[in-house]
Amino acid sequence: MNTREVGLVSAASLAGAIASFITFNYFFTPKTNRNPHQTTDSSPHDPFDPSKRQCYLSWDDYFMAIAFLSAQRSKDPNRQVGACLVNQNDVILGIGYNGFPRGCSDDKLPWAKKSKRGDALETKYPYVCHAEVNAILNTNHASASGQRLYVTMFPCNECAKLIIQSGVSEVIYFVEKGKSSDVAYVASRKLFSMASIKVSQIQAKCFEVACSIFTASANGKFHKPQFPACL
Ligand SMILES: [Zn+2]
Repeated sequence: MNTREVGLVSAASLAGAIASFITFNYFFTPKTNRNPHQTTDSSPHDPFDPSKRQCYLSWDDYFMAIAFLSAQRSKDPNRQVGACLVNQNDVILGIGYNGFPRGCSDDKLPWAKKSKRGDALETKYPYVCHAEVNAILNTNHASASGQRLYVTMFPCNECAKLIIQSGVSEVIYFVEKGKSSDVAYVASRKLFSMASIKVSQIQAKCFEVACSIFTASANGKFHKPQFPACL
Protein backbone atom coordinates (compact mmCIF):
# COMPACT_ATOMS: atom_id res chain seq x y z
CA MET A 1 0.00 0.00 0.00
CA ASN A 2 1.54 3.31 -0.99
CA THR A 3 0.91 6.78 0.40
CA ARG A 4 -1.73 7.67 -2.12
CA GLU A 5 -3.69 4.48 -1.52
CA VAL A 6 -3.68 4.90 2.24
CA GLY A 7 -4.84 8.48 1.86
CA LEU A 8 -7.67 7.43 -0.39
CA VAL A 9 -8.75 4.73 2.03
CA SER A 10 -8.80 7.24 4.88
CA ALA A 11 -10.63 9.98 3.03
CA ALA A 12 -13.14 7.84 1.22
CA SER A 13 -14.16 5.19 3.73
CA LEU A 14 -17.75 6.35 3.82
CA ALA A 15 -17.96 6.59 0.06
CA GLY A 16 -16.35 3.19 -0.10
CA ALA A 17 -18.99 1.77 2.17
CA ILE A 18 -21.70 3.04 -0.10
CA ALA A 19 -19.89 1.72 -3.12
CA SER A 20 -19.52 -1.61 -1.35
CA PHE A 21 -23.23 -1.83 -0.80
CA ILE A 22 -23.94 -1.08 -4.43
CA THR A 23 -21.30 -3.54 -5.57
CA PHE A 24 -22.61 -6.32 -3.39
CA ASN A 25 -26.17 -5.78 -4.45
CA TYR A 26 -25.11 -5.81 -8.07
CA PHE A 27 -22.93 -8.90 -7.94
CA PHE A 28 -24.49 -10.95 -5.18
CA THR A 29 -28.23 -10.74 -5.63
CA PRO A 30 -29.61 -14.02 -4.27
CA LYS A 31 -30.50 -16.56 -6.90
CA THR A 32 -33.63 -17.72 -5.11
CA ASN A 33 -36.39 -15.71 -3.50
CA ARG A 34 -37.72 -17.43 -0.41
CA ASN A 35 -39.38 -14.32 0.96
CA PRO A 36 -42.75 -13.40 -0.53
CA HIS A 37 -42.09 -9.70 0.21
CA GLN A 38 -38.80 -9.65 -1.67
CA THR A 39 -39.00 -8.49 -5.26
CA THR A 40 -37.31 -9.91 -8.33
CA ASP A 41 -37.00 -8.53 -11.81
CA SER A 42 -39.74 -10.87 -13.01
CA SER A 43 -42.16 -10.17 -10.13
CA PRO A 44 -42.16 -6.50 -9.12
CA HIS A 45 -43.10 -5.55 -5.58
CA ASP A 46 -46.80 -4.99 -5.04
CA PRO A 47 -47.15 -1.17 -5.00
CA PHE A 48 -49.99 -1.48 -2.44
CA ASP A 49 -48.01 -3.70 -0.05
CA PRO A 50 -46.90 -1.53 2.93
CA SER A 51 -44.53 -4.14 4.39
CA LYS A 52 -40.77 -3.67 4.33
CA ARG A 53 -38.29 -5.91 2.60
CA GLN A 54 -37.36 -8.78 4.93
CA CYS A 55 -34.11 -10.37 3.79
CA TYR A 56 -31.84 -7.33 3.98
CA LEU A 57 -28.30 -7.19 5.35
CA SER A 58 -28.07 -6.75 9.11
CA TRP A 59 -25.58 -4.16 10.36
CA ASP A 60 -23.20 -6.96 11.34
CA ASP A 61 -23.46 -8.59 7.92
CA TYR A 62 -23.05 -5.23 6.22
CA PHE A 63 -19.90 -4.19 8.07
CA MET A 64 -18.32 -7.63 7.81
CA ALA A 65 -19.05 -7.61 4.08
CA ILE A 66 -17.24 -4.27 3.81
CA ALA A 67 -14.31 -5.79 5.70
CA PHE A 68 -14.24 -8.61 3.15
CA LEU A 69 -14.35 -6.19 0.23
CA SER A 70 -11.48 -4.21 1.79
CA ALA A 71 -9.48 -7.43 2.05
CA GLN A 72 -9.60 -7.72 -1.71
CA ARG A 73 -7.43 -4.59 -1.96
CA SER A 74 -4.55 -6.47 -0.35
CA LYS A 75 -1.56 -7.38 -2.54
CA ASP A 76 -0.62 -10.27 -0.27
CA PRO A 77 -0.75 -13.43 -2.42
CA ASN A 78 -1.18 -15.69 0.61
CA ARG A 79 -3.63 -13.96 2.90
CA GLN A 80 -6.04 -11.07 2.46
CA VAL A 81 -7.50 -9.58 5.63
CA GLY A 82 -9.92 -6.67 5.93
CA ALA A 83 -11.26 -4.66 8.86
CA CYS A 84 -13.98 -2.06 9.37
CA LEU A 85 -14.20 0.28 12.38
CA VAL A 86 -17.72 1.41 13.33
CA ASN A 87 -19.08 3.77 16.00
CA GLN A 88 -22.12 3.41 18.29
CA ASN A 89 -24.36 4.99 15.65
CA ASP A 90 -23.35 2.45 13.01
CA VAL A 91 -21.28 5.01 11.12
CA ILE A 92 -18.09 3.75 9.51
CA LEU A 93 -15.00 5.46 10.93
CA GLY A 94 -12.28 3.62 9.06
CA ILE A 95 -11.49 0.62 6.90
CA GLY A 96 -8.23 -1.16 6.24
CA TYR A 97 -6.48 -4.19 4.82
CA ASN A 98 -3.09 -5.81 5.24
CA GLY A 99 -0.31 -4.05 3.35
CA PHE A 100 3.00 -2.24 3.63
CA PRO A 101 3.29 1.17 5.34
CA ARG A 102 2.83 4.48 3.54
CA GLY A 103 5.62 5.24 1.10
CA CYS A 104 6.93 1.66 1.13
CA SER A 105 6.50 0.29 -2.35
CA ASP A 106 4.42 -2.82 -2.91
CA ASP A 107 6.91 -3.75 -5.62
CA LYS A 108 10.12 -3.34 -3.65
CA LEU A 109 9.34 -5.21 -0.45
CA PRO A 110 8.92 -9.02 -0.44
CA TRP A 111 5.54 -10.78 -0.15
CA ALA A 112 7.10 -14.19 0.58
CA LYS A 113 6.26 -16.12 3.73
CA LYS A 114 9.65 -17.85 3.77
CA SER A 115 13.20 -17.12 2.61
CA LYS A 116 15.32 -19.78 0.92
CA ARG A 117 18.35 -18.27 2.67
CA GLY A 118 16.60 -18.18 6.00
CA ASP A 119 16.73 -14.38 6.00
CA ALA A 120 13.65 -12.94 7.74
CA LEU A 121 14.20 -9.65 5.92
CA GLU A 122 13.31 -11.43 2.68
CA THR A 123 9.82 -12.22 4.02
CA LYS A 124 6.80 -9.94 4.42
CA TYR A 125 6.53 -10.22 8.19
CA PRO A 126 8.91 -7.46 9.32
CA TYR A 127 7.20 -4.94 7.03
CA VAL A 128 3.47 -5.58 6.73
CA CYS A 129 0.77 -3.62 8.60
CA HIS A 130 -2.22 -5.73 9.61
CA ALA A 131 -5.75 -4.78 8.55
CA GLU A 132 -6.86 -3.96 12.09
CA VAL A 133 -3.99 -1.49 12.49
CA ASN A 134 -4.80 0.25 9.23
CA ALA A 135 -8.52 0.46 10.01
CA ILE A 136 -7.80 2.14 13.34
CA LEU A 137 -5.12 4.45 11.98
CA ASN A 138 -7.23 5.37 8.94
CA THR A 139 -10.15 6.49 11.07
CA ASN A 140 -11.89 9.72 10.13
CA HIS A 141 -12.81 10.19 13.77
CA ALA A 142 -10.55 11.61 16.46
CA SER A 143 -10.82 8.53 18.64
CA ALA A 144 -11.66 4.86 18.30
CA SER A 145 -12.80 4.83 21.92
CA GLY A 146 -15.96 2.81 22.51
CA GLN A 147 -16.19 1.64 18.91
CA ARG A 148 -16.70 -1.76 17.24
CA LEU A 149 -14.14 -3.37 14.97
CA TYR A 150 -15.21 -5.90 12.31
CA VAL A 151 -12.36 -8.05 11.03
CA THR A 152 -12.29 -11.01 8.68
CA MET A 153 -9.79 -12.93 10.83
CA PHE A 154 -9.35 -13.10 14.60
CA PRO A 155 -6.72 -10.49 15.57
CA CYS A 156 -3.17 -11.49 16.50
CA ASN A 157 -1.67 -10.35 19.79
CA GLU A 158 0.11 -7.38 18.21
CA CYS A 159 -3.16 -6.07 16.81
CA ALA A 160 -4.92 -6.88 20.08
CA LYS A 161 -2.54 -4.51 21.86
CA LEU A 162 -3.34 -1.68 19.47
CA ILE A 163 -7.07 -2.42 19.56
CA ILE A 164 -7.07 -2.20 23.35
CA GLN A 165 -4.88 0.87 23.50
CA SER A 166 -7.02 2.68 20.93
CA GLY A 167 -10.11 2.19 23.10
CA VAL A 168 -12.11 -0.13 20.83
CA SER A 169 -14.75 -1.80 23.00
CA GLU A 170 -15.91 -4.70 20.81
CA VAL A 171 -14.34 -7.00 18.21
CA ILE A 172 -16.48 -9.03 15.78
CA TYR A 173 -14.52 -11.53 13.68
CA PHE A 174 -15.39 -13.98 10.93
CA VAL A 175 -12.88 -16.81 11.37
CA GLU A 176 -9.96 -17.69 13.60
CA LYS A 177 -6.85 -18.55 11.62
CA GLY A 178 -4.66 -21.50 12.55
CA LYS A 179 -4.70 -23.34 15.84
CA SER A 180 -6.34 -21.85 18.89
CA SER A 181 -3.23 -22.98 20.79
CA ASP A 182 -0.96 -20.62 18.81
CA VAL A 183 0.81 -18.26 21.18
CA ALA A 184 -0.29 -15.17 19.23
CA TYR A 185 -3.97 -16.07 19.59
CA VAL A 186 -3.79 -17.35 23.16
CA ALA A 187 -2.11 -14.07 24.10
CA SER A 188 -4.65 -12.11 22.11
CA ARG A 189 -7.61 -13.73 23.89
CA LYS A 190 -5.89 -13.26 27.24
CA LEU A 191 -5.37 -9.55 26.57
CA PHE A 192 -8.93 -9.02 25.34
CA SER A 193 -10.29 -10.79 28.41
CA MET A 194 -8.17 -8.79 30.83
CA ALA A 195 -9.10 -5.53 29.12
CA SER A 196 -12.80 -6.48 29.11
CA ILE A 197 -13.07 -6.20 25.34
CA LYS A 198 -16.19 -7.94 24.04
CA VAL A 199 -15.20 -10.51 21.40
CA SER A 200 -17.61 -12.52 19.27
CA GLN A 201 -17.76 -14.46 16.02
CA ILE A 202 -20.27 -13.01 13.56
CA GLN A 203 -23.63 -14.69 13.28
CA ALA A 204 -24.98 -13.71 9.89
CA LYS A 205 -28.68 -12.98 9.86
CA CYS A 206 -29.39 -13.32 6.18
CA PHE A 207 -28.04 -16.59 4.85
CA GLU A 208 -28.38 -16.08 1.15
CA VAL A 209 -26.91 -12.61 0.86
CA ALA A 210 -24.27 -12.72 3.57
CA CYS A 211 -23.06 -16.20 2.74
CA SER A 212 -22.68 -15.26 -0.91
CA ILE A 213 -20.64 -12.21 -0.01
CA PHE A 214 -18.41 -13.88 2.54
CA THR A 215 -17.64 -16.98 0.54
CA ALA A 216 -17.15 -15.12 -2.74
CA SER A 217 -14.95 -12.49 -1.14
CA ALA A 218 -12.95 -15.03 0.83
CA ASN A 219 -11.39 -16.19 -2.45
CA GLY A 220 -11.84 -19.83 -1.52
CA LYS A 221 -9.55 -19.55 1.50
CA PHE A 222 -12.27 -20.23 4.08
CA HIS A 223 -14.64 -23.07 4.66
CA LYS A 224 -18.20 -22.27 3.71
CA PRO A 225 -19.82 -20.83 6.84
CA GLN A 226 -22.92 -22.43 8.25
CA PHE A 227 -25.21 -19.49 8.88
CA PRO A 228 -28.82 -19.77 9.89
CA ALA A 229 -31.30 -19.01 7.15
CA CYS A 230 -33.00 -15.65 7.45
CA LEU A 231 -36.49 -17.06 7.16
ZN1 LIG B 1 -2.49 -8.65 13.57
